[in-house]
Amino acid sequence: MTRYPDLYLYIGGEWRQSAHGQPVLNPADECTIGTVPIATRSDLDAALAASADGFKIWSKTSPARRAEIMLKASALMRERIEEIAYSITLEHGKPIAQARAEVVRGCEFFEWDAGEGLRTYGRVIPSEPGVRYIVLHQPIGMVAAFSPWNFPMSQPSRKIAGALAAGCSIILKAAEETPAGAIHIARAFHDAGLPPGVLNLVFGIPSEISEYLIPQDQTRLIAFTGSTAVGKHLTEIAARHMKPVLMELGGHAPVIVCDDVDPMAAAITSAMRKARNAGQVCTSPTRFYVQEPLFRAFTKAFVEKALTVKVGNGFEPSTQMGPLANHRRVEAMEMLVADARSKGARVLAGGERLSGRGYFFPLTVLAELPEDARAMREEPFGPLALINPVSSLEEAIEKANGLPFGLAAYAFTHSARNVDRLIDGVEAGNLSINTLEASVAETPFGGVKDSGHGREGGVEGLAHYTTVKNVSHCVA
Ligand code: NAD
Repeated sequence: MTRYPDLYLYIGGEWRQSAHGQPVLNPADECTIGTVPIATRSDLDAALAASADGFKIWSKTSPARRAEIMLKASALMRERIEEIAYSITLEHGKPIAQARAEVVRGCEFFEWDAGEGLRTYGRVIPSEPGVRYIVLHQPIGMVAAFSPWNFPMSQPSRKIAGALAAGCSIILKAAEETPAGAIHIARAFHDAGLPPGVLNLVFGIPSEISEYLIPQDQTRLIAFTGSTAVGKHLTEIAARHMKPVLMELGGHAPVIVCDDVDPMAAAITSAMRKARNAGQVCTSPTRFYVQEPLFRAFTKAFVEKALTVKVGNGFEPSTQMGPLANHRRVEAMEMLVADARSKGARVLAGGERLSGRGYFFPLTVLAELPEDARAMREEPFGPLALINPVSSLEEAIEKANGLPFGLAAYAFTHSARNVDRLIDGVEAGNLSINTLEASVAETPFGGVKDSGHGREGGVEGLAHYTTVKNVSHCVA
């Protein structure tokens, strides 16, 4: 039987209620589906004490045993896929097939990092006789992590997987608007035999929790995914206390469509990808720069596809795009569309919220936007596709690099020469050519410029969760 889980804090291996809570809404009908507990200062102190104990145990647990528990928890989540996907669709709104895919992706993060935890190799540096120089990668300590609402299960997975694989304990503040994904993860780790205190899950007032946890002596890494503004704020607090940060922040992904591709195929792929998660993805393809000979055909095909995208309740099998996750996103879409329209952009599809209950907004196509339209500069984080013509690849690359963001960038081309110019010219942490997939568990994901600092996934992912110790051992 699938049902939305009861929502608790998870501290020291125990589920805890709180005197205060806040409602969790279903974005498809705005009805309350649960109450998320709000952690008090004493809950946070309990989490700090528990995570100190958890770190002592987990950092001394063998990497093989850590991997075994992580893989067992992941297997449990795969078994519980229907229950977890149900919760995700109920609290976030995305189509149930996308919720199932998210659970699989979250499990892949655990499985990849479990393997990488076995390979945090150090090295021995050649030295004169009688001395050994040994470089070790040791768990950094307790991690304070903050995950957002757009992927309720796979966003927390990234941070928990990195911390646990490296031998760290973690206090995760997951998103209050979509808490069940993280609850399911904690339940799977509890059932898999994770020692108490290694993973602690809290919810509450985000600023109060981050401002309390970051300065604590035992906090050794701050890992955050969310907006650039909040990421900069947390980085400032961390800097005052000399704490390292791992920041996965906003994006405004450019898509360069070169004149050597089939515009129809590129447009259809792009429209469907734009609809994924209703565009609420930091890597969502957003600014389309299309070489002039293809501009009309690409735009026409994109609009035709966009108009077919079925928007509705994520539990309906025919739904391709669910509601936006909260009212703030709907208001942001309305503001960005109105601003673009007033500055001369053409609205070719969508553009207005759908009537009735729920935060529904259609896939929206804007074309020929002036550079000063707010949508061209601010991350829409919603289903807006912005299509502009460019006269050359050089112009496209210059425009792609024209914002402070540098997370994902995409291009369609079959020319090896173009690919070379893109690789050298585009400022982004992730460049994808002829595919709109920006990252998988085995590749490093992260941004440059205002899109953040550090990488999750790949062989690079665990580096942030470890610290380097050089041992000079004189045996003479
Ligand atoms: P927001 O900036 O208020 O919050 C973004 C996230 O940060 C939320 O999860 C929130 O709980 C958390 N947060 C906010 N203040 C915090 C604080 N002081 N300490 C710790 N955590 C804090 O905006 P929002 O309306 O929730 O989301 C919209 C914006 O957030 C989007 O425009 C997008 O740029 C960004 N976002 C990015 C991602 C991503 O994957 N990079 C995910 C979700 C949201």
